Amino acid sequence: MSLHGNYDSENIFAKILRGEIPCVKVYEDAATLAFMDVFPQSHGHTLVIPKGVEARNFLEMPTKQISHYMESVQKVALAVERALGPDGIVITQFNGEAAGQTVFHLHFHIIPRWTDKQLGDHANGQMADMEELQAIAAEIQAEL
Ligand code: AMP
Repeated sequence: MSLHGNYDSENIFAKILRGEIPCVKVYEDAATLAFMDVFPQSHGHTLVIPKGVEARNFLEMPTKQISHYMESVQKVALAVERALGPDGIVITQFNGEAAGQTVFHLHFHIIPRWTDKQLGDHANGQMADMEELQAIAAEIQAEL
């Protein structure tokens, strides 16, 4: 998918937002949803998406809504840090297929890193155990 084009309301995150498919929720407010990545690149890999917008990527996000969205990204990242105590955290976001984007609803990745643990492949890993993800989400929620 190109960097430019129309928002597809059948993308997987739109379906999650409509409650048509489940997610392991970490945080939600009026404009943001955060949930566990089901193909995590590391322990605690969390995604933060905006609600109520048809933005395929960061470039399409209404400017006035960016600051709240970024506050939510930081809020969740801080909770991830407190809950899991990583050595570092990668916060990343891809725009367009050529940049590595695979789901075309804007999202930031929060990926905790440990110096002695290798990073899994992007969007190409093993599906996580749901009970394990629920337990990690509960740990993060406790720090929100
Ligand atoms: P990107 O490649 O930046 O578009 O990232 C999309 C991310 O969504 C990848 O890290 C996938 O593992 C993740 N993902 C895909 N389907 C789901 C899903 N149903 N629930 C949670 N995460 C998902």
